Amino acid sequence: MLNLVLFGPPGAGKGTQSQKLIARYNLVHLSTGDLLRAQISRGTELGLQAKKLMDEGLLVPDEVVIGMIGSALKENEQAAGFIFDGFPRTVPQAESLDRLLAEHGTKVTCMVALEVQEQELVKRLLERGKTSGRPDDQNEEKIRKRVTVYNTETAQVAGYYAAQNKFCGLNGVGEIEDIFGQICAILDQHQSAVSEGSQQATKEVKA
Ligand code: ADP
Repeated sequence: MLNLVLFGPPGAGKGTQSQKLIARYNLVHLSTGDLLRAQISRGTELGLQAKKLMDEGLLVPDEVVIGMIGSALKENEQAAGFIFDGFPRTVPQAESLDRLLAEHGTKVTCMVALEVQEQELVKRLLERGKTSGRPDDQNEEKIRKRVTVYNTETAQVAGYYAAQNKFCGLNGVGEIEDIFGQICAILDQHQSAVSEGSQQATKEVKA
């Protein structure tokens, strides 16, 4: 299985790259932001509570998003792999993801982080806010709050994967196709390492 954690601040291009990656690698896209917005539009209790935090640019509690990811993994037992977009955003979420994937006999392949400066993020998100209908994209103060939350709470997750040699940072400013090509190169490298590893294991079993 190919399990990619696509990482980066709000507005870094995770959604855009995810759409291209799911088409190429036949992966299931799990975006906690999208899952939460679906709860909001269904008017659930969870959605009502999450909306207040999301509108302020704050994180929703770990147990809420971990629960959503756990259910989504169960609903997609046959998947060839997953793109985790907007998750994990805290170290406890990263630890839970490892546990959940282990229960399904798999693990995180790698984390790819799209790096973009704050000024560019604010510009992109205000532009997206004109058409996305997302209240959190329409106000500069809220956007900056989300970037601050990313820098203070979320950026540590990169260290979690770096410690496992699974972190790869990329410049998120440039042509969409170029960035896509760089992500594909990283994934292809990981996949060939995995298949070489399994061929090696097969040889050892035969020997
Ligand atoms: P963006 O990355 O552009 O901020 P998302 O759609 O990923 O947008 O997330 C929107 C909001 O949803 C976040 O600001 C946060 O309030 C909430 N959210 C999404 N994913 C998580 C998560 N893993 N943990 C906590 N809160 C989350």
